[in-house]
Amino acid sequence: MSGSLAVIGLGPGEARYLTPSALAALDAASDLVGYGPYLDRVPVRAGQTRHASDNRVEVARARHALELAAAGNAVAVVSGGDPGVFAMAAAVFEALETGDPAWRELTITVEPGITAMLAAAARAGAPLGGDFCAISLSDNLKPWEVVTARLSAALTADFVIALYNPISKARPWQLGKALAVAATIRAAQTPVIFARAIGRRDENLRILPLEDAVAAAASADMATLVMIGASATRLIARDGQTPFVYTPRSVTKSPCATSQGRT
Ligand code: SAH
Repeated sequence: MSGSLAVIGLGPGEARYLTPSALAALDAASDLVGYGPYLDRVPVRAGQTRHASDNRVEVARARHALELAAAGNAVAVVSGGDPGVFAMAAAVFEALETGDPAWRELTITVEPGITAMLAAAARAGAPLGGDFCAISLSDNLKPWEVVTARLSAALTADFVIALYNPISKARPWQLGKALAVAATIRAAQTPVIFARAIGRRDENLRILPLEDAVAAAASADMATLVMIGASATRLIARDGQTPFVYTPRSVTKSPCATSQGRT
């Protein structure tokens, strides 16, 4: 088969966060496939066909992209951030696994991008200096019990926790609930970062103690990445400026000692 499919991460926002490699892969494509607002971020090149779709039909979109590639096109599937983080790369491989066996002969590549968690961490300082994990709070693709079980385990193990998909119109209460669970395990003063639209013109970073973050949950939206500090995560205050947040790399306490929280 002569067609190709590149799954491309656009980074968190503006074009300067796109890697040169991803830019070259976008330029080489004859067909662009993706969620409309992400396609809007890709510079227009004459002769390229755009296939915009709804955000909720990821596997169908991936199948369509594979069909276009099988027909001999150079297809680029775009995702915000990194395509492998809660995004299109997994949908492409799911479609490949269950689809026409001939699709496996296509040239399929994944171009990484800066994921929201890393963009947000860089703005805040170095909150991911110690061990960390990422959890999507969306219960569209998994039961809420799975989310809470993983969240509790990560809190108990004292990871810094990045929460993707914290809230949406259809899922208004999950973030508040997740932060309330965190407040039963982590200390009240634990730094929580609300990083909104990082890498875009309207970016906004707020740092709140966990006890206030619970009440502020409703102020997050779909463009927000929430990060809950570990027991060692701390602030460096600066006059008139947002404090830095960092997590030291060295760990001296066992998580069992810190899982009790307020010690
Ligand atoms: N593939 C994307 C994540 C898709 S899930 C990535 O790697 O970043 C969508 C979630 O990502 C959003 O609900 C939000 O939590 C987070 N997100 C995406 N872009 C963001 C940005 N610019 N600033 C803050 N959070 C962002």
